[in-house]
Amino acid sequence: MPVLKADLAACQGYANCVVAADDVYDIDDDGLVVLLRSEVEESDRTRVETAARSCPVSALWLEDA
Ligand code: SF4
Repeated sequence: MPVLKADLAACQGYANCVVAADDVYDIDDDGLVVLLRSEVEESDRTRVETAARSCPVSALWLEDA
């Protein structure tokens, strides 16, 4: 199952990811992305990956476990 990854040092809090998939990504009080789950169902991969690609600083990606 694909595993969600985030580079918190790169995140700038643009929230594109939250707009694209608010059940997977959130923003904390410091303006950094929070991953609401660690793994993604294969059936949900395209949607979550599209949201990850919407990040302007490429701080999100999926890895195959
Ligand atoms: S889109 Fe990228 S920069 Fe914006 S909150 Fe999400 S991870 Fe952070």
